[in-house]
Amino acid sequence: MKVTGFASQSVGQPLEPFTYEQPKINPHDVLVSVTHCGLCQTDIHAIEDYYGITTFPFVPGHEIVGHVSAVGSAVSDLKEGDRVGIGWQGRSCMKCEWCLKGEEQLCMDIVSSATWNPYGGFSSSVCVDSRFAYLIPDSMPSEVAAVLMCAGITVYSPLRSYAAQQEKKIGIIGVGGLGHLAIQFAHALNYEVTAISSSPDKKEQALAFGADHFMVSDKTSMQKAAFRFDLLLCTAHGKLNWVDLLDILKKNGRLILVGFPDVEFNSTDLVAHQLTIASSFLGNRKTMREMLSFAHEHNIVPKLELMPMTKVNEAIRKVKENKARYRIVLYNDIEKVEL
Ligand SMILES: [Zn+2]
Ligand SMILES: [Zn+2]
Repeated sequence: MKVTGFASQSVGQPLEPFTYEQPKINPHDVLVSVTHCGLCQTDIHAIEDYYGITTFPFVPGHEIVGHVSAVGSAVSDLKEGDRVGIGWQGRSCMKCEWCLKGEEQLCMDIVSSATWNPYGGFSSSVCVDSRFAYLIPDSMPSEVAAVLMCAGITVYSPLRSYAAQQEKKIGIIGVGGLGHLAIQFAHALNYEVTAISSSPDKKEQALAFGADHFMVSDKTSMQKAAFRFDLLLCTAHGKLNWVDLLDILKKNGRLILVGFPDVEFNSTDLVAHQLTIASSFLGNRKTMREMLSFAHEHNIVPKLELMPMTKVNEAIRKVKENKARYRIVLYNDIEKVEL
């Protein structure tokens, strides 16, 4: 059977309709008919082969929601018609040290674990390991669930692991696709949240998302905030003023990276203030399920814009021009494509 998707044929090329043979459904696999797929910064980076792991033709898309349309012989917990969500990780080796510990996001074979492999969610269907397809709570809209599958888990997982600490003054750096969700999750996890952004015009919305305070990341405000935060969660990308950012951490403070910013640190304050720079990648399957029910229970809803999948290149342009507020989800109208 043939599947239609949108693929980039080589590095940096715009997506175009692409037909490929439906992958074989292995015993643990499910075939999912895609109804919605969010557009993540990582998709755009991968089209540009920023990570050096992209194979072309490349069909991006890893914030997927759809309906199960076929199941492999060993699948017992999902059936045809179930509505599921799939994130960046669509499978794992299930036998390395990390998979056996239940930390599948650290699988030693992580590159071939991507939902993109062989083809991602900007497509009529995807084939993934059923153990990485998550049932969506009934009343959660599909476009909401889509964004939670990557942006949601990316910020929830580190926020959840540090939430047990007593001191919980957190600064969320960046009020964008990841940041606006991080503010909501951090608020629901009882942190004292400061949203930190270079754009003063994001103040009102950051407070509406649940931030207790808002701070512009200019020199004067940053100096005033010296030694203020126990924790900083960096959701921004590109170049940041790392010297000033480290100075707003308390001694023994922790900076957690979840996106892929360009980092450059001066060791003086880092060592003298005994700071930790940590990072966090996606989340394991247990945390993914927990995140979905936590988001549902606390009414955590991404602010998003729906666009048809046939306009995927326009959507990519909007994200690149920093005009998406705050996430774009594509609904599938691929049947309209004439090949
Ligand atoms: Zn992503
Ligand atoms: Zn593994």
